[in-house]
Amino acid sequence: MTDASAVRMALKRALIFLGPPGAGKGTQAKRMAKQLGVPHLSTGDMLRDAVTRRTEQGRLAEPIMERGDLVPDDIVLGMVEERLSRWDCDEGFIFDGFPRTIRQAEELDEILQRRGLGKPLVIQFQVSPETLVKRVAGRWTCSVGGETYNIFERPPKTPGICDNDGGKLIQRSDDQPEIVKERFAAYERQTQPLADYYRTHGVLEVVDGDAGVEEVTRALNEIVKRAEGRNGHL
Ligand code: AMP
Repeated sequence: MTDASAVRMALKRALIFLGPPGAGKGTQAKRMAKQLGVPHLSTGDMLRDAVTRRTEQGRLAEPIMERGDLVPDDIVLGMVEERLSRWDCDEGFIFDGFPRTIRQAEELDEILQRRGLGKPLVIQFQVSPETLVKRVAGRWTCSVGGETYNIFERPPKTPGICDNDGGKLIQRSDDQPEIVKERFAAYERQTQPLADYYRTHGVLEVVDGDAGVEEVTRALNEIVKRAEGRNGHL
């Protein structure tokens, strides 16, 4: 049995990737979701999609996201609850960028309990400020499939073009230096306290997010396997 299938059979839980902008959560969440066969749930992606589709939630969220602040909890929680009610979330899922406030974490605990999913497994990405700045400044995203690249660490084969589907690569408007500063500040103020919250609940693990992509993936797999051993099922 491969490592992936051993973990896949067991996943019946929420995995939460916690870390500041540029920590590598999205890259790793996409990889692990594929490996485990569970959905990758990025509230940032859900919100950007709502903005593009000009929904009511999107219209409310757009100016807040443009200045790098957090969108109100009620909007985010509504979207998450709706997404979790779909069939593909029955066997577990990976959150990237959620929860971001204590209230979101508390409400998520209740949602998970109602759905019989128990405690989440939370993995915090610890990353140096220098790496974060480089990751965000070099980030380009495919406008078609959402694949992310970094022009310093993982450039596309052809500049500006996605290797997977030939889509045009674009930079997120909130990745500009001034806005990124606000997003880091929002992280420190509102999201960093979640590490203590989850540590107190005994579900927090930490990875060295400064390491390369493959190394972080290996470390995450180890954590997931260890958690599986502790709980009987993941
Ligand atoms: P991300 O793609 O995770 O960096 O999120 C981009 C932006 O979407 C953030 O700067 C926030 O404005 C908003 N956002 C994403 N997830 C959340 C969340 N869980 N709570 C509040 N705002 C969020």
